[in-house]
Amino acid sequence: MATSLQPLVVICGATGVGKSKLGVELALRLVNKGHNKWRGARIINADSMQVYTGMNVTTNKISPAERMGIDHLLMDFKKPDEQYLVGQWVHDAMQAINETHNRNEIPIVIGGTSYWIQHLLFPNRLASDGPPSLSGDSDRFRSAIPERFISKLPPDLLNLFDQLPEQAPSAISDPDRASLLYKLLQTLDEPVAARWHWRDTRKVLRALQIIKEQGRTPSEIINEQASTPLFPRYRTLCLWLHAEESVLDRRLDERVDDMIKNGLLQEIRELYEYARTSTDLGAGRRDEPDRNDFTVGIFQSIGYKEFYKFISDPDVSEGKFADAVERTKHSTRKYAKRQVVWLRNKLLPAIYSVTAEYRGKSSVAALYLLDTTGKLAVGLLGESWVSNVLQPAKMIMDAFLNEEELPDPTTLSPLARAMLTNVNKALSPLAVLEARRKVVCPLCTKNPSQPVMVEGAEWEAHQRTRLHRRLAAKAKERISSVPWKHELSEWERPSGPRGLRLGIYNVPV
Ligand SMILES: [Zn+2]
Repeated sequence: MATSLQPLVVICGATGVGKSKLGVELALRLVNKGHNKWRGARIINADSMQVYTGMNVTTNKISPAERMGIDHLLMDFKKPDEQYLVGQWVHDAMQAINETHNRNEIPIVIGGTSYWIQHLLFPNRLASDGPPSLSGDSDRFRSAIPERFISKLPPDLLNLFDQLPEQAPSAISDPDRASLLYKLLQTLDEPVAARWHWRDTRKVLRALQIIKEQGRTPSEIINEQASTPLFPRYRTLCLWLHAEESVLDRRLDERVDDMIKNGLLQEIRELYEYARTSTDLGAGRRDEPDRNDFTVGIFQSIGYKEFYKFISDPDVSEGKFADAVERTKHSTRKYAKRQVVWLRNKLLPAIYSVTAEYRGKSSVAALYLLDTTGKLAVGLLGESWVSNVLQPAKMIMDAFLNEEELPDPTTLSPLARAMLTNVNKALSPLAVLEARRKVVCPLCTKNPSQPVMVEGAEWEAHQRTRLHRRLAAKAKERISSVPWKHELSEWERPSGPRGLRLGIYNVPV
């Protein structure tokens, strides 16, 4: 059935499943064969680290030779320390998609940053999407801060809210200001604050700016948006490349080993030098001699943080190197798991809700899982890759572009059936926030205004760390030696105001 929406092909999935390779193959098919008016394809990068120049090995960028003459847009074009956020990418991607359609070519969006892809496919779901109700004019603003916000704020926080900094303070060189900013967000929008660490000062400041600009909290905006149905921006075909977990984990480990062989260390050294010597960094960061800020630009990429200590340590040892490699592998696997969880719990329900909404036009959005568990030959295409991934992908894309009836996605493979069924279809808008909620460790926290915060899912691992175990043993000793004197603190009291939510007794996972 015809629709007025323009077609878009998306290739998503965790890191290390062969997305780039499939993208080039599908683009070449369109170049060689064409479909009605479509005479080619361009690839649009949706990997938040590949937008930066440099770090080609570490971010696993497709090499110019492997691109086979296909345009790759939004790749390799941002300076290493440039901020590039989801809203900017969506804007740039829409422009690139539009240009591609105008050339009678199909845009193929490829990347592991599923969060970006989701916001490209479904508009009006970013907190910053709302129309600003106020200009940046602070005098006008003051009179317009809703009373319900003012009444919540003690004088110091009200003053800070009134004069929000333009640039986020550094949590390293200015922890007091960073924690005060976090306290302000906690007071105004607790669910959103809990999603961030107090050290994520840019995110914290952004949330506060939204409250100021729009007179509503991000939580309120998210809830409001959730009450309006989703609609797709394009007629979308999503191809999700996936592999069984054990196979994927092994492949990711091998990929880290390959990266090291191919120059990861050299790239990290270059980036480290750049960060140390660049005068091109934002004014707010000039005072940081080490520039070890892992929350901006490409400094966020997996590998940099893990190798930072090794690189900056003049005392090189094999043990320290092995430790950095192990940490890189751990982070890579953890990241891949998060990508899969996002696709299954966020993108899939959104696609399902749209196809239900547009009943009768089922091809307005479709998602197929292609099983890449079989051997992925490097260079040459492996046999199982051709039969399990490439052939079905071509067949489905052809049918999609011809607006023919599409096969049932759950029939493609046992893995597809397992991953695409029994999906939690309730799109809980605050579920993302809940899932990433930080837990405060009462034992490791020395300064309550700058607490040690751990991701909910990492809590068990945190409890096994040497430092935490040592503190736990000490605390136990203290309690048993002077039981009559011990009074439970707010943190330790299970029924205390925050004990249940943040304390050690009931930890959200
Ligand atoms: Zn701890």
